[in-house]
Amino acid sequence: MSIFFVMIIKYNVQLQPHNSFRTKALARIFCEPQSAEELSEIINAFPDERKLILGAGFNLFFTKDFDGLVIKPAIKGVHILSENDRFVEIEAGAAEDWDRFVKYCVDNGYAGVENLSLIPGSVGASPVQNIGAYGTEAMDVIAKVKTVELRTGNNKAFSNEECGFGYRNSIFKRTGLYAITSVVFRLEKSFHYKEKYIDLSRELEGIPSPTLAQVRNAIISIRNRKLPDYTLLPNAGSFFGNPVLTESEKDQLQLKLPDAPIYNVGEGQFKTSAAFLIDKAGYKGKRHGMVGVYQRHSLIIVNYGTENGREITDFMHKIQQEVQQRFGIMLEPEVRIY
Ligand SMILES: Cc1cc2nc3c(=O)[nH]c(=O)nc-3n(C[C@H](O)[C@H](O)[C@H](O)COP(=O)(O)OP(=O)(O)OC[C@H]3O[C@@H](n4cnc5c(N)ncnc54)[C@H](O)[C@@H]3O)c2cc1C
Repeated sequence: MSIFFVMIIKYNVQLQPHNSFRTKALARIFCEPQSAEELSEIINAFPDERKLILGAGFNLFFTKDFDGLVIKPAIKGVHILSENDRFVEIEAGAAEDWDRFVKYCVDNGYAGVENLSLIPGSVGASPVQNIGAYGTEAMDVIAKVKTVELRTGNNKAFSNEECGFGYRNSIFKRTGLYAITSVVFRLEKSFHYKEKYIDLSRELEGIPSPTLAQVRNAIISIRNRKLPDYTLLPNAGSFFGNPVLTESEKDQLQLKLPDAPIYNVGEGQFKTSAAFLIDKAGYKGKRHGMVGVYQRHSLIIVNYGTENGREITDFMHKIQQEVQQRFGIMLEPEVRIY
């Protein structure tokens, strides 16, 4: 029996509502497939078009129109695949809201994602940049990622090891070759709070054995204090990644900035803080026209009212030049720019 899909394909769609920086750009072709099968269909229908997979748009913005096919998976659903006394495996569709999924896990006593509370975005994007916060990364709990290959329209599933996870990185981000349709998480059915992040422990002070809900609430409180409300001040979270340095780059930096925070990340590599470098370059709270650095968090660039993504990239280049000239380090954007 053949199954025919009726999918709405739109042309010249405004992408401003689909990115949290609220920049304007048109997608020449746009569609929202409801299933992995529909996603394959659309890929096979437009084999020669450039393709962009869009989640909820919290980690990207546009500087120009997208001359190709924008696919925004609309695949929903959360269900338990298997469980035993200790673990539960849950599959969630790419279009599920990330924080709603975290709340579902916390409400049901499933531990592992609570530290990732209130990160805006979709489940489908969580493996792409291996989202992380408060000492936890998505890679710690992802068992499998189900995808459709953009070149062939074929299904392909990746085990955790095959995802090539790294700091804010994965095979999905590095290659851009796959549309994620769902993610399988492996979570624990019991929870004992372990300190992973000092700010969080401070927030939980006075609670002898915090529950999952108390940890989630503490994180929500910290994030609400620290981060700008994107509905009032459009932004995409941390704009730059923390630079990873070789030993000699680290030594050079310490000559210029002896108080620079340095974390040994192994294999002769060291991480420093992009926010610290931006502060030291004099950009904390600085504004040029309609774009600026958020006063309470130097890693966040905020939009005070432009609809033109190029104003954001112009400002980004100014920060990069200043940090490079002063400290010899090139900051790389974590946000995806199209
Ligand atoms: C206020 C604020 C705070 C933030 N805090 C954090 C934080 O603490 N930690 C953190 O890690 N991030 C943080 N972010 C960044 C952002 O929330 C995450 O990157 C999130 O995963 C983005 O999800 P999204 O659905 O909006 O992805 P999008 O922005 O739509 O897409 C991001 C990238 O993933 C790709 N992509 C999206 N969906 C799919 C899919 N189904 N298949 C294949 N590729 C896909 C896109 O092509 C793009 O390259 C923050 C952002 C904001 C605005």
